[in-house]
Amino acid sequence: MIFDIITIFPKIFDPYFKESIVGRAQKKKLVKIKIHNLRDYTKDKHKTIDDKPYGGGPGMLMKVEPIYKAIKSISTKAKQVSNRSIKQNDQTKIILFSPKGKKFTQAMAKKFSRLSQLIMICGRYEGVDERVAKHIVDQEISIGDYVLTGGEIPAMVVVDAVTRLVSGVIAFESLKEESFNKTKSIKEYPQYTRPERIAINNKQRRVPKILLSGNHKEIKKWREKHKT
Ligand code: SAH
Repeated sequence: MIFDIITIFPKIFDPYFKESIVGRAQKKKLVKIKIHNLRDYTKDKHKTIDDKPYGGGPGMLMKVEPIYKAIKSISTKAKQVSNRSIKQNDQTKIILFSPKGKKFTQAMAKKFSRLSQLIMICGRYEGVDERVAKHIVDQEISIGDYVLTGGEIPAMVVVDAVTRLVSGVIAFESLKEESFNKTKSIKEYPQYTRPERIAINNKQRRVPKILLSGNHKEIKKWREKHKT
């Protein structure tokens, strides 16, 4: 699976993506993450990617042209069907991060993990020329009801959540018991690791005895009971 991220801050991603599970998934060639500098798709000397909003108002908006140019160059479907709308192909999805978009969920992550290409556009400033949302992308996605300064953290959130669901990235067993493995959210049971006992604010805090018992049937029962 290929993730394409269109951004004006291409350097933000590397330290996070090269570590841990996402890092290993790339090494194992299970996923590929390509970062595209939006400014490479501008024509003018100053590599302008923003402009004032028509009708007035505060701040600047991201321009549609560089984004359209980037999408045309990145999207495999656009290459295959250059005369048709760039919106048609089940294997590729183009998303724009926006606080007014559809809320990103585990179910959505699961769907995205079956794609062969996910293209993400990171907004900045006051937002993005509406024609991007209307005519270029498949979906606007929000990662939560708050306003961030840009779409880069949302892109990391999506890559992270989707990568761990791509087949082969994580052992099936660890995903099976996970918090949202059904459509409804089912949380995990509480878990403990060593030490068995520790003083926190002068009180001894212990691991529940049953977990030390070795009695798998009872442990299973306890875990069922303590799922939240
Ligand atoms: N003026 C806009 C906020 C723009 S924030 C408004 O009031 O809605 C700048 C960019 O950050 C957005 O274009 C978007 O790409 C990103 N962003 C901010 N909050 C986000 C969120 N909760 N989810 C996804 N993207 C977000």
